Amino acid sequence: MKQDEKIPYKVYLTEDELPKAWYNVRADMKNKPAPLLNPGTGKPLQAEELYPIFCKELVAQELDNDNPFIEIPQEIRDCYKMFRPSPLVRAYFLEEALGTPAKIYYKFEGNNTSGSHKLNSAMAQAYYAKKQGLKGVTTETGAGQWGTALSMACAFFGLDCKVYMVKVSYEQKPFRREVMRTYGASVTPSPSTETEVGKRILAEHPGTTGSLGCAISEAVEAATTREGYRYVLGSVLNQVLLHQSIIGLEAKTAFDKIGVKPDIIIGCAGGGSNLGGLISPFMGEKLRGEADYRIIAVEPASCPSFTRGKFAYDFCDTGKVCPLAKMYTLGSGFIPAPNHAGGLRYHGMSTILSQLYHDGYMEATSVCQTDVFKAAEQFARVEGILPAPESSHAIKAAIDEALRCKETGEEKTILFGLTGTGYFDMFAYEKFHNGEMSDYIPTDEELAASLASLPVVE
Ligand SMILES: *Cc1c(COP(=O)(O)O)cnc(C)c1O
Repeated sequence: MKQDEKIPYKVYLTEDELPKAWYNVRADMKNKPAPLLNPGTGKPLQAEELYPIFCKELVAQELDNDNPFIEIPQEIRDCYKMFRPSPLVRAYFLEEALGTPAKIYYKFEGNNTSGSHKLNSAMAQAYYAKKQGLKGVTTETGAGQWGTALSMACAFFGLDCKVYMVKVSYEQKPFRREVMRTYGASVTPSPSTETEVGKRILAEHPGTTGSLGCAISEAVEAATTREGYRYVLGSVLNQVLLHQSIIGLEAKTAFDKIGVKPDIIIGCAGGGSNLGGLISPFMGEKLRGEADYRIIAVEPASCPSFTRGKFAYDFCDTGKVCPLAKMYTLGSGFIPAPNHAGGLRYHGMSTILSQLYHDGYMEATSVCQTDVFKAAEQFARVEGILPAPESSHAIKAAIDEALRCKETGEEKTILFGLTGTGYFDMFAYEKFHNGEMSDYIPTDEELAASLASLPVVE
């Protein structure tokens, strides 16, 4: 390893350098993200209308477009200490393997049992639910990372946790399911016959293997029909991006510590929470005109919300029980091809990131899943960490940028978010190794068909 004497392989922060407040990028946005609408009236949702769904403190955070800093309660800062700070790593080995003059850094969020950044928001959401005196929370999970993170957080704060897990994952990822049960959660395959919306979806699509949008509908119904329960969501929402700003704040402090400024910041984008969190403080500087960064969202070619979706109001779920959000969307009925194994399968995108992308503050690119797994393997073999398929979208884009630097001779500094580990994704890796993985890309006709169902909003 050719190491720069001034830059350590890993930059860690001390306990007193850890952020004491989350940063709310909306405060610095001239064009605020469009408000959530009540699907019945088409009017912006008021806080009171959200109280049956989310706990109060989180509603306040969801609707707060003005306060730049929101204090992280001491209890949350304390439990963050179990798995934070996360290291900022200089990918010396990867740079060497690529023969690039680029300097590559990644912020690694996989160093906890749930294996991803999702625990950052799970801990916060469970804390506020407990503080409000609730009995428990309900949620959906797709690949299982969010459900696992929430199960851990609920066990920590003493809350009941009810997870609706997309049926295909429930069957294909028994280990994820058992980790959740180990932390005390109850896990139901979705769609189920436990909810009215689940029964309706099963009647309309018998034999369906489920989708995130459908599991969300069930979890919301389960929360709003039970005394003392609220619904929590692991991505997309403003509050989740706020909690995830801890990633970017730590990264910024670590960079300041070593006197480095990234040129390019890259993150994978499913619902937008890790990317939103990673870029937050950098985007803040960009919005205030203090610095400039190239910011790139990376999404799967099989679920291309930013690059081929429409910026419009849409439902956040399949059952159409949730509020309408203005976002880049493929239509709430969109379901990625069944051979898509790489995660990031949500039809929509954070309203904050959607607005920033629409206003030209960031770029987006899409990558094919076999290229993603090639990049994942290349990374694992030199940097050691076995990455989650989701994270590997960012790895692929970072490698491409580094190789471009090799052609031009530019010494760019690249930061990417390494959101998690892939130990529970070995079926997908197996498919890749056996040459059974394909790159299905939806046709324009297929996208037009799912976009035709967008709600009409005046
Ligand atoms: C959930 C998840 C993502 C995608 O979600 P975002 O909200 O877009 O960040 C990415 N990587 C990992 C490891 C995940 O678990």
